[in-house]
Amino acid sequence: MAAAQSDRDPPSLLCSEFLHFSAKDTALRWLAAVDLQQEVSNHLAVYVPRILCLGPSGGSSREEQWEEQQEDMASQLLLLAPLEWLLLGEEPATGLHLLQENNQPSALCGHVFKVGEPTYSCRECAADPTCVLCMKCFLGSIHKEHRYRMTTSGGGGFCDCGDAEAWKRGPYCQQHSLAPREAEEDPVSVLPADMAVRGFSIFSIILKYAVDLLTWNQENQENLLPAGLEPPNREDTYYCMLFNDEVHTYEQVIYTLQKAVNCSQKEAVSFATTVDRDGRKSVRYGDFQFCDQAKSVIVRNTSRQSKPLRVQVMHSSVVAHQCFALRALSWLGQIIQYSDGLRRVLCEVGLQKGPEGEYSSLVDKLMLNDSKMWKGARNIYHQLLMNSLLMDLKYKKIFAIQFAKNYRRLQTDFMEDDHERVVSVTSLSVQLFTVPTMARMLMVEENLMTTIIRTFVDHLRHRDLQGRFQFDRYTAQQAFKFGRVQSLIGDLKYVLISVPSEWSDQLRLKFLEGLDAFLELLKCMQGMDPVVRQVGQHIEMEPEWEAAFTLQMKLTHIISMIQEWCSTDERVLIEAYRKCLSALSHCHSGLPDGEQPISLSVAGHCVETFRYQVSQDKVSIHLPVCRLLAGLHVLLSRTEVASRFPEQLPLGQLSPPLLIELPLRCLVLCAQVHAGMWRRNGFSLINQIYYYHNVKCRVEMFDKDIIMLQTGAAMMDPNHFLMIVLSRFELFHIFSSADCRKRYREANKDVVQQNNTLIEEMLHLIIMVVGERYVSGVGQVEPSDEVRREIIHQLSIRPMAHSELVKALPENGNKETGLERVIDSVASFKKPGVTGRGLYELRPEWNKHFNLYFHHFSRADQSKAEEAQRKLRRQNGETTALPPPAPPLLCPLFGSLVNLLQCDVLLAVEDAVLQWAVEPSGGGWTESMLQRVLHLVGVALLEEEQQLESSSRDDDITFNYSCKITRPGEAPSTSGSAMALLESLQNAPHLEVHKDMITWILKMVANIKTMREQTSSTFTVPVCQGQGPEETVRDKDKAERKRKAEMARLRREKIMAQMSEMQKHFINENKELFQQSLEELEVSTSAAVDNSPPSSESTCAAQVCVGPRRVGGAKRRQLVTCILCQEEQEVRGQGRAMVLAAFIQRSTVLSKNRRCNLPDPERHDPLFMDPALSLGIHTASCGHIMHATCWQRYFEAVQLKEQRRQQRLRGHTSYDVENGEFLCPLCECLSNTVIPLLPHTHTPDYRVDHPCLEAWLKMTNQQIAALRSAQRKPSDGVAEGAGPAVPEGFRVDFTPQNPFSSSVREMITTFSMSTYKVGLKLNPNEQDHRVPVLSWSTCAYTIQSIERLLMEEDRPLFGSLPCRQDDCLSSLTRFSSACWNAAPPTTVQSHFIRLLAALVPDSQVENNLSILDIDMFHLLVYNVMSYSSVHSLDQSGLRVVDSAHLHLLHLVTVAHLVQILLTSTTEEVCMDQDGGASEEEELTCQLYNTLRKHLGSVLPEVTSGWQLFRCLKAGILPFLRAAALFFHYLNSTAPPADLLVAGPGQWEVLCSFLNLPSNLLQLHQTHHTLLEPLIHRWCCHPGVRQTLQVGGVIVRFPRESNQLIQLPEDYSVLINQASSFTCPRSGGDKSRAPTLCLVCGSMLCSQSYCCQTEVDGEDVGACTAHTSTCGAGLGLFLRVRESQVLFVAGKTKGCFYPPPYLDDYGETDQGLKRGNPLHLCSDRYRKIERLWRQHGIAEVIGHAQEANQTLVAIDWQHL
Ligand SMILES: [Zn+2]
Ligand SMILES: [Zn+2]
Ligand SMILES: [Zn+2]
Ligand SMILES: [Zn+2]
Ligand SMILES: [Zn+2]
Ligand SMILES: [Zn+2]
Ligand SMILES: [Zn+2]
Repeated sequence: MAAAQSDRDPPSLLCSEFLHFSAKDTALRWLAAVDLQQEVSNHLAVYVPRILCLGPSGGSSREEQWEEQQEDMASQLLLLAPLEWLLLGEEPATGLHLLQENNQPSALCGHVFKVGEPTYSCRECAADPTCVLCMKCFLGSIHKEHRYRMTTSGGGGFCDCGDAEAWKRGPYCQQHSLAPREAEEDPVSVLPADMAVRGFSIFSIILKYAVDLLTWNQENQENLLPAGLEPPNREDTYYCMLFNDEVHTYEQVIYTLQKAVNCSQKEAVSFATTVDRDGRKSVRYGDFQFCDQAKSVIVRNTSRQSKPLRVQVMHSSVVAHQCFALRALSWLGQIIQYSDGLRRVLCEVGLQKGPEGEYSSLVDKLMLNDSKMWKGARNIYHQLLMNSLLMDLKYKKIFAIQFAKNYRRLQTDFMEDDHERVVSVTSLSVQLFTVPTMARMLMVEENLMTTIIRTFVDHLRHRDLQGRFQFDRYTAQQAFKFGRVQSLIGDLKYVLISVPSEWSDQLRLKFLEGLDAFLELLKCMQGMDPVVRQVGQHIEMEPEWEAAFTLQMKLTHIISMIQEWCSTDERVLIEAYRKCLSALSHCHSGLPDGEQPISLSVAGHCVETFRYQVSQDKVSIHLPVCRLLAGLHVLLSRTEVASRFPEQLPLGQLSPPLLIELPLRCLVLCAQVHAGMWRRNGFSLINQIYYYHNVKCRVEMFDKDIIMLQTGAAMMDPNHFLMIVLSRFELFHIFSSADCRKRYREANKDVVQQNNTLIEEMLHLIIMVVGERYVSGVGQVEPSDEVRREIIHQLSIRPMAHSELVKALPENGNKETGLERVIDSVASFKKPGVTGRGLYELRPEWNKHFNLYFHHFSRADQSKAEEAQRKLRRQNGETTALPPPAPPLLCPLFGSLVNLLQCDVLLAVEDAVLQWAVEPSGGGWTESMLQRVLHLVGVALLEEEQQLESSSRDDDITFNYSCKITRPGEAPSTSGSAMALLESLQNAPHLEVHKDMITWILKMVANIKTMREQTSSTFTVPVCQGQGPEETVRDKDKAERKRKAEMARLRREKIMAQMSEMQKHFINENKELFQQSLEELEVSTSAAVDNSPPSSESTCAAQVCVGPRRVGGAKRRQLVTCILCQEEQEVRGQGRAMVLAAFIQRSTVLSKNRRCNLPDPERHDPLFMDPALSLGIHTASCGHIMHATCWQRYFEAVQLKEQRRQQRLRGHTSYDVENGEFLCPLCECLSNTVIPLLPHTHTPDYRVDHPCLEAWLKMTNQQIAALRSAQRKPSDGVAEGAGPAVPEGFRVDFTPQNPFSSSVREMITTFSMSTYKVGLKLNPNEQDHRVPVLSWSTCAYTIQSIERLLMEEDRPLFGSLPCRQDDCLSSLTRFSSACWNAAPPTTVQSHFIRLLAALVPDSQVENNLSILDIDMFHLLVYNVMSYSSVHSLDQSGLRVVDSAHLHLLHLVTVAHLVQILLTSTTEEVCMDQDGGASEEEELTCQLYNTLRKHLGSVLPEVTSGWQLFRCLKAGILPFLRAAALFFHYLNSTAPPADLLVAGPGQWEVLCSFLNLPSNLLQLHQTHHTLLEPLIHRWCCHPGVRQTLQVGGVIVRFPRESNQLIQLPEDYSVLINQASSFTCPRSGGDKSRAPTLCLVCGSMLCSQSYCCQTEVDGEDVGACTAHTSTCGAGLGLFLRVRESQVLFVAGKTKGCFYPPPYLDDYGETDQGLKRGNPLHLCSDRYRKIERLWRQHGIAEVIGHAQEANQTLVAIDWQHL
């Protein structure tokens, strides 16, 4: 540490000061002084520069932290302690304690939120969505039982617990309800009087000091520092201070710093991080010139593209004082926490007017300088404001007024500020304006509403000649500013969010004044962004449209809220209506006068209008003034003001044709766009039309236009209305010509088509105008009916998830849709499975409310819904007609709308279309047209029926549509009646589709006729059900036949539908989890069929898989088919090689020790696997077999394709060809190598004698000795005569013949090299002696991991594996038993010698490991595999290889028993051992005592043989199971039937299958003499004693399977955890993307520069870095803020995966956008865990990337 210090060592310098300084004395001196302020200033002037900011702060964070601690300590002792003494008049600790005890704490919680902390809002009780609770308060509140929303805080803001205005119910949590509250007692009075006085003066001095310094701008001042603070002995050192901005990126800053101050990349990153966090950071320290130099380099380097980074050279004492100012503010914040009285004193000090009058209080000064301060300073003083002013109810008001007074200036400053809003003081508005009483008060007293709107309008300066906003030619700067201005709308929303329950005259006045301002704003929007149809050429440049729509979208809620306000007060409503109307007429007066009046006449009616064509003149989508008027008009109707005070309304001024004009133009524009007339106007227009109808805008756009048309139509002669509509649609000439009933003919086909679409659109519009009545005020409905209808129509398309429904419904300002109130009445909920999400399905009884022409359907929605509904009706055996549903009654103000349905013009139009439809369409008319006309007819008939039903006498009924259509020739057109036409159309063959509907209409007419005939209106005949009275028997027969045929057809269709559904289902399920499903579907046929023919051998009791009596399966021929060429091929050693696509990866799934470092690949010796299984190599396969040659050709083609790709696209695949990766040609499974298929092992030679263990060991030792001497010989040159005794037939110089063809040999090498490459991360090297070891290793590890998997899932050991795993294991095992052939025999032999020495200690083998350091299963596999190389030299003709395997198994088993006993931890449990101990228990005790004899007290004394034995049995079981799998695959032995089922008590079967005694201790007992010395040597290995004594990682058996970490049930617990997680690198800083490792539970600071680490020479993010140790390159994480699971593999691969957390609607919330409470779904979590245990993550990533190419481009390594 000393070396890093500069020559001025601060602590030593101050040491004497510390000793002699007394805070108490200083305080007493000050108290006695005349001018306290001067005394304190002098003190600060002396000490502050000596304590703070001394010299350069180093790049390393540790150094910096240490320095900070020093500064903290010194500031506390020398600067703050005297102040505390002075304030309290006694020892601060005692004083503060006392203060707190006497305090009556505020009932407000006021907890200030950290970034990422969870916040809760009750959707039932919160006054508005900004009212939130902290987690602690939430859990103690009544709201946790309510419907709540959870979000993560963006930082800032505080808990509203205790604020009675924020909550409709339950404003206090348990904790905060305890505080006694006396109304408005002055908390200062609780303080001792002298303390209040002292507090006042101290707070004044300190706050003023802090404010002066933070707002100090040295450059504008003569003095270095504010008066009184000039340092006594001035030393001129400077800092080069770098400031934060939002313009430059991290990379730019880092790069610039490296250049400018010549620091390392690491230091630069650290500087940049601090700048970003604190807002400033000194990057250089020294004399002025030195710092100035750095400044100019930085400015020069960053000024090129944008404005330069802000850098300032600052005097060190200024920096020191500023640092202390911040500490002083924090100190103030802490002190006032102890006492509400002191808090009020501070508030008083802060808001006290200064000498300069009105805006001169210290708080004013801070606010007005806000945009000039750096981020860190702002954060600290904002926090202080929140802790003081906002916590004191009295001063909160005073502050709010001050804030409102400054509002305009603060906002203007904010426009120029280049910081985000969260660090601007303007963001405090949410705390002030959302309190309803406060908002009202500010509105009344400070005219806040008007101020906000005016400020807003002032900042949007770009206008066209008519004074409308003009957003085209929009620069980035303007866009930025526009973005900022929008926050004002947010403020306005806060002010308006709660509707007043009572109005005062003042409030009315100010609200209406605000409305005036608002209308001015809307007037600027009315008619903005007009468009003109482009003809001939395509538009050159897409016009800007987004800004205008952004504005509209932002204002949508405001407009709705203003209407809501108006609806609560009649006087306001009337006045608002007047104002809006006059604003509209003002807009209309701006319309060009050039429009010529024309007169139209049709069907005997005549109307005056003017010539205007949408297709030729200007038209705009933006008509907010009209739309507001429409909204207010509905309110007049809803509140019945219109009927009660008609005299007060300016209804006489309304000119209906003017009202409808602009909305009609807009709707015609949409129709023309649909008709393709505006194609040349580009996408901009398409987008506008889209948003016009979109759920985000439509409430205040499209919906209101329809209402306006309804308003106008209700006030006009319906014929006139329709004529104007016809004219604006430019269709008038078609329907006005005398022979319009003849098909309209036009030469130009395009024009015909265009007109057809326009007619369709127009008919649709008429349907909407008469039919859309689900707005309270238009129709007699409740708001909930409106929502219900929306839901019904969404669900008519298909069942939907909750979030989909929410998205389809408009939200109000409180972010509510009203969905929850009605959903259960119309839909039933279907829970999700392990995938997918929960869905709502429409209850069948609501189907009859379906309206095909529902106005919010898009065209796609409409056709989907139509299809779905027809299908449904067919399935139910109903008619497929989709008649209109019965419409609700209209409100009186809109009552005359119905007349549209029976007016002459509409009848003429209907007539014409029906007439056209008589002839098959040749393009002259369309079916949609007809369908719409039929719908209109239907609506009219329903209307008539309703009127008939509800009226008691016939003469009430003014509506007689049915008469009109049955009487011919009333309209000028003369031929037959519409009724007659319909009757003739009913059976027209070209109208089969519409037949049902026409039939419905005819029945309806008949019905009405009957009703009319009946004088009493009590008897009505329902329409759809039953059969008409005059139906004859013959008709009935016909109907019956038809019904049967229909039933048959339906059955057919149903079956077909079911089948296609099943297929779809299958594909969908499998797409996501192809592998899982495979496993479930094909529960290993191969294992069951191949291996267990219930032949004599499997029933044979003594069926064994190892040893000389083992049963082999070698006789069977293996025939396989190549997936590439489809040829069949037998697997033979000498034949054409067949291979299996396979994927090798490193794995830590079984690891019991994740902390160990990865081995150095060059020197790592893999011959012994450690028992913690720290790092294994796993092999998996999709089980698809190819010819080696076919595969090679395929792989070369893949390589070639990749090479041919353009450079920039290269590497953008889900697989890495250069690393040997490819996708299986059949199933696209990620693979990186192939396993060769090899023939079965030979059946043992039963004639050969089985040597006993002693004999075999003796022989083997002789063979080893012979090999050793042979290996020594070549170097000795001459052969020595007296060599060791060589067993008979053993020839050391024998070269066994390689049993494989060259192609098989080649594939063996290929796979060996792959395991080598992946396992060691080295380049392939065939000469390396470790090559065979790695091949054995992957065999052993894969078997082990599969054994664990089967155990965990309770599946039987045999027969339950899917084919692909079965095939993989058998080929893998056979391969590794043969791979020694590819290596030099001496290498493998020396491996065997070392391996055997681990069991049978051999003095000639060095570096022997203790048996506690070896995994026994690996040892067994390696021994068995390597033994072949020794055995191959035995030419005696005695095939003892199987005996050897058995002996090796026995030896390893005993060693494992010893290993287990050594590591066992049996707690003595005193249990009655009834009866004597069993033989097993006695033997176990015996063995244990032998071990204790060797090791003494290192092993605890255990008396319970029963416990030891249990321990032993449990410990060795996994080994035995793995061994059984191994020998089963090695020797192709069929498993015994008992092991094909899961269940307990398989011990005996397992032992006998392995040729072991079921009492394993007999192994020890029978070879006692041989084993005793071995055991002695094992125990005496120094490593054993050391491991047991020192501890360290002792692996105990059975090793428990690893699980993913436990996750909390409630997701907010995780969020809370993450919010208190700080970045481990940048001291105490909050992490932005806290990410949880699901494997080990570490929390990481992901996706951030601060935590990048170098791995293999490349900087990678925290996740990737963690992955390289925790998961050997593979990782599973939970991104807590995103609620998203992240899978990463290596540096380039990754994907996101749905999290295991679901809301109550069965949906995940990736990105945490919706905020519904989330709970753990353990099934889904288990699914993820299973994926991991199965080593399936890499494959999931592969499939995800293959399916979604954008995933490939993500820089996963930076996460
Ligand atoms: Zn709280
Ligand atoms: Zn609380
Ligand atoms: Zn609640
Ligand atoms: Zn082939
Ligand atoms: Zn495959
Ligand atoms: Zn981990
Ligand atoms: Zn970090």
